[in-house]
Parts: sequence; structure tokens; C-alpha cells
Amino acid sequence: MNFLEERILREGRVLPGNVLKVDSFLNHQLDVALLDEMGVAIHRRFADAGVTKVLTIEASGIAIACSVARCFGVPVVFAKKSKSSNVGDDVYSAEVASYTHGNVSQVIVSRRFLVPGDRVLIVDDFLANGCALSGLIAITEAAGAQVAGIGVAIEKGFQEGGRLIRQRGYDVASLAIVDAMDARSGTITFRQQD
Ligand code: 5GP
Repeated sequence: MNFLEERILREGRVLPGNVLKVDSFLNHQLDVALLDEMGVAIHRRFADAGVTKVLTIEASGIAIACSVARCFGVPVVFAKKSKSSNVGDDVYSAEVASYTHGNVSQVIVSRRFLVPGDRVLIVDDFLANGCALSGLIAITEAAGAQVAGIGVAIEKGFQEGGRLIRQRGYDVASLAIVDAMDARSGTITFRQQD
């Protein structure tokens, strides 16, 4: 079991609706040393991918994206949730359905911060149905940039996002993959990874 899986077992709580709550170290209170360990692990996995930018989505992806970006020595760009559906010509945009909030928001990235030739490592805290990552992929490709890889802290492997995105040919690395979890007993089962 790796460091993140151990921490999830110790502090994670399974809520009804297939939500894993990890707010004591990832989603509310932040354990910066743990985030840095995750950054090192994701950097190791994509060290040879020629990454020029790390792209994430506000808010909970930003912390882990910063740890990853520090290892690569590249900037973080985060997609912002736009209040208006009237977005200007100076941004790339995508619609993203929120798994945890149950709404759809328009997310935007300024054209200044993603350019053709960028090799983008997309990073997020969770992968569930893959909506957030699909939006970030669409924005990257709209900019004429390339997806160099996708690094995720926690993938819920019993939801379809990971399978669908890998099927599209993207290289997805998840530090922990939860294959099953049960709100009643609180049990969490991880997928064995190399
Ligand atoms: P997806 O777009 O893949 O369906 O969901 C990913 C996004 O929803 C992540 O950015 C994350 O913020 C949120 N999310 C999805 N599932 C969970 C979960 O079980 N726990 C938490 N804390 N966030 C989740």
C-alpha cells in the first residue's frame, strides 16, 4: 500500500452517493508535505514527457497542481469557473458537470496562458466520471497544445471516467485507485498497481 492509500484508509470517510471525503488532507485542510510527496510521484511518472505547463481546475486541483509544477519547474494554469455563460474571444472554454455539486459550470482559460507548442500535464484531485478532465482536455486541444499526460491523486475506479479517458488514448496515472467503497461499513478497497 502506498503513502496516499494509507492516508485514505486512516482519514477518508465514505459518504452516501459514492463520495469519498478527504477534507483533512486534500480538500479543505491541506497536508502540504503529503501534497509534495504526491507532486514527486506524479513528476517521476511523467518526467520524460516534456511538460511545459500544468493545467488544473479550481478549486481543489490547485494545491496538488502546485506541488507537481514545482517539481517540473513550470507554471500552473487553473481553469476558472465563469459566472457568465457569455465568454469572450480571449478565452478557451468548456462546460463541466460537477460530480460533487451536481451543477454544470462553464470553465475558462485565458488564451494568453495556453499556446500551441505547450505540452500540458493535466492534474486533478479526483477522477470520477471524467467530466472535469474532459473539459481540461478540450481546452488544451482548442489551444493547439498537446496533452502530455494526466496525473490524478484519487481515481474512483468503479466509475467510468478513467476507463473512457484511457480508451481515448490519454496516459492517465492515478496515485490511488479505489475499486470499491461502502458507505455503511466504511470499507475502501484499492486496485493493485505496479
Ligand atoms: P468527474 O468530473 O471526474 O466526474 O469528477 C471529478 C471532480 O469532482 C473532481 O475535480 C473533484 O473535485 C470532484 N469529485 C468527484 N468525486 C469526488 C469524491 O468522491 N470526493 C471528492 N472530495 N471530490 C470528488
